[in-house]
Amino acid sequence: MGRVLVILTLVTLFMWLALTNPLLQNAQAFIPSVTSTGKQLRWDLPIHLNLIGNPTNRSNLSEKSFFNAVVSSLRQWQKASGQVFSFDYWQGSDRKLYPTKVALDGVSTIFFASAAPEPIPQISPNVLGLTQVWYDNESGQIQEVDIILNDINFIFTDDPTDTSGYGSEQSTASRYRTHVFVQNVITHELGHVQGLSHSGGLQSSMLFMESPEQAYLGCDELAAALTIYSPRESQEKLGSVSGRISFQDGSPVYGAHVLAISQVRGTVLATALTDSKGKYAVRGLEPGNYYLMAEPFYAGPSALSTYFADINVKVCPGETPFNRKFLTQDDSHVLTQLSVSPNHSTTAPPLVVQCRPADETLASVPNSSILKRGIVPEIHLNPNQQQNFGIVEQLDFTEEQVFKISGVSGNLQIYVLAYSIYSPIRASLVLYDSEGLEVRLRKLDPSYTGDSGFINYDSSIEANDLPDGTYFLKISSTRLRPYQYPAGPIALDSTPYVVLLGTSTHASLSRPSLVSYFPENARCRLPDDSSPYQSPTSQPPSPSLKQSGSGIGFCSSSPSGGTSHALRSSNTYLRLANIFSWALPWLFIFGVALVRLVHKRSFALSRLRTTMGSAILKIWQECWQKLQFVYLGFLHFLYTLRHHITPHRQKLRKKAFS
Ligand SMILES: [Zn+2]
Repeated sequence: MGRVLVILTLVTLFMWLALTNPLLQNAQAFIPSVTSTGKQLRWDLPIHLNLIGNPTNRSNLSEKSFFNAVVSSLRQWQKASGQVFSFDYWQGSDRKLYPTKVALDGVSTIFFASAAPEPIPQISPNVLGLTQVWYDNESGQIQEVDIILNDINFIFTDDPTDTSGYGSEQSTASRYRTHVFVQNVITHELGHVQGLSHSGGLQSSMLFMESPEQAYLGCDELAAALTIYSPRESQEKLGSVSGRISFQDGSPVYGAHVLAISQVRGTVLATALTDSKGKYAVRGLEPGNYYLMAEPFYAGPSALSTYFADINVKVCPGETPFNRKFLTQDDSHVLTQLSVSPNHSTTAPPLVVQCRPADETLASVPNSSILKRGIVPEIHLNPNQQQNFGIVEQLDFTEEQVFKISGVSGNLQIYVLAYSIYSPIRASLVLYDSEGLEVRLRKLDPSYTGDSGFINYDSSIEANDLPDGTYFLKISSTRLRPYQYPAGPIALDSTPYVVLLGTSTHASLSRPSLVSYFPENARCRLPDDSSPYQSPTSQPPSPSLKQSGSGIGFCSSSPSGGTSHALRSSNTYLRLANIFSWALPWLFIFGVALVRLVHKRSFALSRLRTTMGSAILKIWQECWQKLQFVYLGFLHFLYTLRHHITPHRQKLRKKAFS
């Protein structure tokens, strides 16, 4: 009973991001949701979720589609946890048995907002869905969850390609529409159910924006589920990297997003957030070599648990965030390699972030040799042993860049990351031998293509049985559009850069060791389990009035509130730009109409009846018809412009998750 009272005080509304909880004794990988005292939210083990779904919706989504989406999402989380998380799912339209209200009543539910008996205050036109997690504030133990999908402002679909978020070619046409693939939202919300908050990882299901492919867990979610819930024998196979991030004056960076890039996979495997002392720990890592990148948590504190309200990454002049920064050797472009072993924490050297100098576009890539024209950067390898290398280089949007790699022996594997770490280019690779002849090789470009239309444009090559010697790698870059990134323009770097990870060895190239935990593809997508699911034949658990939490409602300090506030106080210039872009099309059409009126009147007054007069009138009418199209195009252009000028607004628009 006492516990229930404690719980009463605790309602968390997940809006979009949750921060990492670095303040805990053990800073975590991924970004968990935390209590007001910083305790990570989690279920007691083993977790068994009894979930009751009500498919009543306004989107014309069939009961079967909804059922399949929920079961498919639940199964992914089950698999990710090593079966520690299990579930039973009941679905039906009878509101007595399948309730559609948010309450601490002993049953966890998933339903659509339009089916709720009364409006849910936190469902605003910007929010796709939200998860209310009821937890014990002292222990962080999760008691119950309610998931609401906003079918009042959005149309849910069962087509992975029919979704409005950024992140695919389709986004061009659909991003102003309100269609949303229901499973994207359910998988994401179920992440909140597991105790996770939002992530900055571009390929993460917990990304703060709705986007294609979120229906499937990314590497970061798998690392999170393994870390929080998997059995001890699984945990012991994993390692971690910890360290500290500071500014140049030595003060800690609170709220830096740290990405661990796996050498053997050529992808970001897991992420973490720094605590108020600048400390982080990226956990759940497969043993192997890693490289680190730090960036601001671009979605900001409003996307995280309120506990993290004070994170501040906007420390540079003009209240801009610090630059992306890699852990490098002596501030060169050579990345520091970190070796992670099972059941062990590797300590990384300190990482110091910088502000962007006025004359430099990317301070995070110092002394870039690329930009010194005529110099071919050289990577020296020792042909007598296995050699790994990792470098970061700034590129040009249009130029090709050649790297000389000397000392190559036998087998060579190279990954080039750009897209997945928010660099605005697609990098394509060609390898030449010292004679200038193109080397035959296996290429993966792009590195991942999902059935939703999402493409990870990173690329890789692998060549076997090469004669020892020197080779030349040519990287050509194509500029990608902001809408091709799952977070759209948010967090996209202004400068193109690449991370090159390579291995050269006479022995066979190593492969990821834990493919049963992290499937071997650039997004770690799990294989589909489409076997039929049967709900229990028993009635679903019924709500218990004793535990009713009526009167609690939602926590008013929800991230959404914070986000709105941040927006209102944002840059005046952006607001003016909005007003201007809104008003201009109307001024334009008004002007055209006025000209037309004046023209007509003068035409009437002069009573021109000549054929020339008629011809002019005809031309004018045709022009007017064309002008209507021009006007529509212009309107669309301005609308687009507005979104590019004001990326932060976009966060609050339809892509918001709860
Ligand atoms: Zn969310």
